[in-house]
Amino acid sequence: MKRRYLVALGLAAAAVAVGMMPYSRVTSTSSFASGTALRPFAGAPASGQPAPVSLAIVRTSAKPVNEALVVAGGSLSRQVTVSMSGFVIRHGEHLLAFDLGLGSQIDRQYGAEMPMWARPTFSYARPVDPLAAQFARAGQPLPEEVLLSHSHWDHGSGLEDIPKARVWVSGPELDLIRASHGGAGQPWMSQVGRPDIRWETLTFPDGPWMGFDRSLDVFGDKSVVVVPMPGHTPGSVGLFVTVSSGRRFLLVGDALWNAGELREGQGKSSAASMIVDGDRAQTAAMVRQLVRLARDNPGLTIIPAHDGDLQARLGLFPRWID
Ligand SMILES: [Zn+2]
Repeated sequence: MKRRYLVALGLAAAAVAVGMMPYSRVTSTSSFASGTALRPFAGAPASGQPAPVSLAIVRTSAKPVNEALVVAGGSLSRQVTVSMSGFVIRHGEHLLAFDLGLGSQIDRQYGAEMPMWARPTFSYARPVDPLAAQFARAGQPLPEEVLLSHSHWDHGSGLEDIPKARVWVSGPELDLIRASHGGAGQPWMSQVGRPDIRWETLTFPDGPWMGFDRSLDVFGDKSVVVVPMPGHTPGSVGLFVTVSSGRRFLLVGDALWNAGELREGQGKSSAASMIVDGDRAQTAAMVRQLVRLARDNPGLTIIPAHDGDLQARLGLFPRWID
């Protein structure tokens, strides 16, 4: 019995190894920038006029889940929609993506890298409608810059569909990617291990912003501002967006999964947090900060990456929010 178990384990390890073969470990590539204070649009000409700014919420997949499994203190009888979404900010003629949701290669990526034990917990609903495919149908060019809130599988899956983009992550997230051996809560080499990805390192030279002690003002007009939001992963970031009408949004990646966490004030359900939050204490501190931020700024809409109900209420791509 024991021997049979060991053989099965060996076969599983071999299968994982075979699945990983087409990809190189990120440590073996030299495609990373060296952490210079680049800005995604440093070279953009200033026209003197404020550029129009709009936001698209691009749902790539969604499924109903019991709220208690998502939100600490959530209802056992209520269902919430867990979405896998990307976001695109249009600033004048520039397109900047913040996360990509699930891409066209998700079945292969998931099949190769999601451990069997984690599949009942971490799954996705088909059909998947990748961001790149939705943009193609809408006759939109693809974003030239991609910023990842963090490098988990359901955020970076679509990188393969946008091969020409520069991809921005924070320094600590880059360290996480470099050290990753894959697995449910780690970056996947099938997504981030491609040697031709044009990585860039986010830095935060622009001082305090909305209670965060460092920031990056992406376009130099305060309309799109990145802030560090460590906890869920060490290099997680959030993105403030003010669209042309003056409506303000904060995209928080997985610092929160659902806006119900702001109502209950305790973050993700503890079972979920235990599995997915890299540093639970730091994540809890970030949740408290976001609860205060929401309370003090009633005009600010905080959008968690997976809150499909809130995102649908705001309006999904091909609609642009401006
Ligand atoms: Zn995550």
